[in-house]
Amino acid sequence: MPLFERTFDTRTGLRFLSVREWKEAHPGGKAIAYFPVYAPVELIHAGGMLPAGLSGAGDRLDIQHADARFGSFICSIVKTTLEMGLTGHLEPFDGFLFSTICDSARNLCFVMKRNFPGMYVDFLHLPHNPSSPAAAQFLAEEYRRILSELERVGHCKVHEDAIRSSIALYNRSRALIRKLYTLRAQNPERVPTSELYQLIRVGNFLPVEEHITQLEQALAQFHSCTARRRDSIRIVVEGSFCEQPPLPLLRLLEEAGCYIVDDDFVIGQSWFESDVPTDGDPVLALASSYLDRSVYSSVRHDFRKPRWDGLVDKVRRSRADAVLFLIAKFCEPAYFDYVPHKQELERAGIPHLQLEFEEKSFTFDRLRTEIETFVESLVFD
Ligand code: SF4
Repeated sequence: MPLFERTFDTRTGLRFLSVREWKEAHPGGKAIAYFPVYAPVELIHAGGMLPAGLSGAGDRLDIQHADARFGSFICSIVKTTLEMGLTGHLEPFDGFLFSTICDSARNLCFVMKRNFPGMYVDFLHLPHNPSSPAAAQFLAEEYRRILSELERVGHCKVHEDAIRSSIALYNRSRALIRKLYTLRAQNPERVPTSELYQLIRVGNFLPVEEHITQLEQALAQFHSCTARRRDSIRIVVEGSFCEQPPLPLLRLLEEAGCYIVDDDFVIGQSWFESDVPTDGDPVLALASSYLDRSVYSSVRHDFRKPRWDGLVDKVRRSRADAVLFLIAKFCEPAYFDYVPHKQELERAGIPHLQLEFEEKSFTFDRLRTEIETFVESLVFD
């Protein structure tokens, strides 16, 4: 069995076991779920609450109620999240946080508000123009508003020192993930993506302290792994920043001869490229970091750093041979960016392939053929 499979299954299942365990160990403690892609988890953690990243229901839930609230052209994660709510699966949570990633997520927030009137459901307005001199102050004020709501829900007062301590913890977690990604890019045979993905994704539901321990142990294990390098192509996977691809699809990529050397899976777990400062005003530090330290993403607009340049940099940095656009069905931000990304890759002479998935997919015969053909075209070029 792969290293992390048992933990992944038990912690990320529909019962949210790790969230329930945490609440049993912390009587009266509150768990706040956030919808992808990014949330200022430090503010939740500093209030003594458990932040948990939602990531859809995969193929474990049939849609029976959510279809009545959303059109058929909406991505799966929006529908399965609502379905989980309408069928009582989100019962361990005491609040939900959404942000401005796309129209579907925005609508989900307000559908949830309407369907769960007694629940804390909030919408975080992230700035769309980071070059504006007012952007940092605007976001800091938005974070302070969220903070006062969290204090109300958690019956607590969140002090600046607690936020600084939480920032330090999450800095540690993000630094470990960066190290794991660097190790994988250097030695992809030692760090199978199908295992790394589970390790990072399980962090959505674990207390950060426990996840840091898992990341440290995994880093040591991957370092000492002696797997032999296969004759595979090196690819960057782009476009799976919100709805997550099924694990068997990642295994299929590896079996078909791909080493994934960089990706944007569960990107909220490693949102900052460098540490958030722990001195000064911690709320302002988080806001300024969102503007100046965030990774590029199709759900964050920053014309100071075009996302297509970011993708080419990523390919060069990871010495990838090609890019695979792995895009969730009906994901507007990913499809909007596909065109400029593709144009930039073609200018740079970087091969690419685009595939579509749904979190609930379980057969991949057509995708297998496309991937194998793509790999062969590169190997025998
Ligand atoms: S998968 Fe895409 S369209 Fe769906 S909620 Fe996420 S960002 Fe929005």
